[in-house]
Amino acid sequence: MIFHPKKEALKEEILIEKMYKMMETLALINSTLDEEKLLQMIMKAIKEVMEAEASSLMLLDPNTRELYFSTVEGGSQHVKEIRIKANQGIAGHVMQTGKPFIVNDVSKSEFFLKSVDQKTSFQTRSILCVPLISRNKTVGVLEALNKTGGKEFNEEDVKLFMAFSNQVSVAIDNAKLYNMAFYDGLTKIFVRRYVEAWLETEYARVRRYNTDLSLIMFDIDHFKKINDTYGHQAGDFVLKELAVTVKNSIRQADIFGRYGGEEFIVCLPETKVEKALHSAERIRKAVEEKEFMYEGKKIPVTISLGVASFKQMPEDKVSRFIKDADEALYFSKEHGRNQVTLHGQEKKLKTAA
Ligand code: GH3
Ligand code: MG
Ligand code: MG
Repeated sequence: MIFHPKKEALKEEILIEKMYKMMETLALINSTLDEEKLLQMIMKAIKEVMEAEASSLMLLDPNTRELYFSTVEGGSQHVKEIRIKANQGIAGHVMQTGKPFIVNDVSKSEFFLKSVDQKTSFQTRSILCVPLISRNKTVGVLEALNKTGGKEFNEEDVKLFMAFSNQVSVAIDNAKLYNMAFYDGLTKIFVRRYVEAWLETEYARVRRYNTDLSLIMFDIDHFKKINDTYGHQAGDFVLKELAVTVKNSIRQADIFGRYGGEEFIVCLPETKVEKALHSAERIRKAVEEKEFMYEGKKIPVTISLGVASFKQMPEDKVSRFIKDADEALYFSKEHGRNQVTLHGQEKKLKTAA
């Protein structure tokens, strides 16, 4: 073989350049922990680095043992409606073997599934598919489709793509852990621990600069009865829908979390007591008016709320602040439910009643 130093150097340079591009993306990946955004970024980078017309991430649904398109870049978004068996097609083959697979002419491949292209307007010519491995298990596959410039996928592409895939699975795992640490699995709002940590920081700031901060605690009325009457699944449905309803009636800056089973907390930064009371009343009304329809049945749902606003006091603590809102909430419970009580006003209400 005749050695072409120039040609070899050029090839290496291109590979190094690609590696840099990959590293750049990976640095970005590790700074973004929002799973959806992260996956979009990854697929975009793969498309560019692999010089492909499209890229996709397919993940395994462990319950049904099916592969579904989680994120797609460049191709038709309609693929998201498609599910294939975990042993079907090129993706299924890679799932089963756990090894990368190149097909440069899909019309000649026994594994290629025509049905996916038929459902979308995308025309697949070539595929490079690599497994996505997390903790020694294949959890999905990454695909680069149609290498551009009339080129074919080669062994170097495989190496690059595998390196990518390894980093991607670590990043996805981190994002999952992050999500678990911050967001409640059922309602997708903040977990108690996060809200408490946020409050500690915000509380210190408020004390120091004497700005405003208010808290709303609320609890579903007779939730046990909802579970007993309509079933636990219906109860879960109510919790999920309630979280969406409340989220839509608060500001983006407000911190909304699940405090306990069916108890919630909303922290309102820069908010004085009057505004907090308005906000609480808006939440109460939104829940009361929302139609919770489960399996054809309308479930009536109301909540009881307590509001506390920050006041400068010596040796004040976050736990005291929360307790204030909680006490007001229980006053609402004891006095007929489906209402708002402001901490410190309980006695007044009592004499008025
Ligand atoms: P009150 O109006 O006094 O608040 O009455 P309640 O029935 O809502 O209060 P109680 O504390 O007696 O019951 C709360 C119930 O919430 C009991 C528990 O099984 C249920 N629960 C807690 N977490 C969940 C959950 O994640 N899903 C479902 N479906 N139920 C839950
Ligand atoms: Mg309750
Ligand atoms: Mg409760």
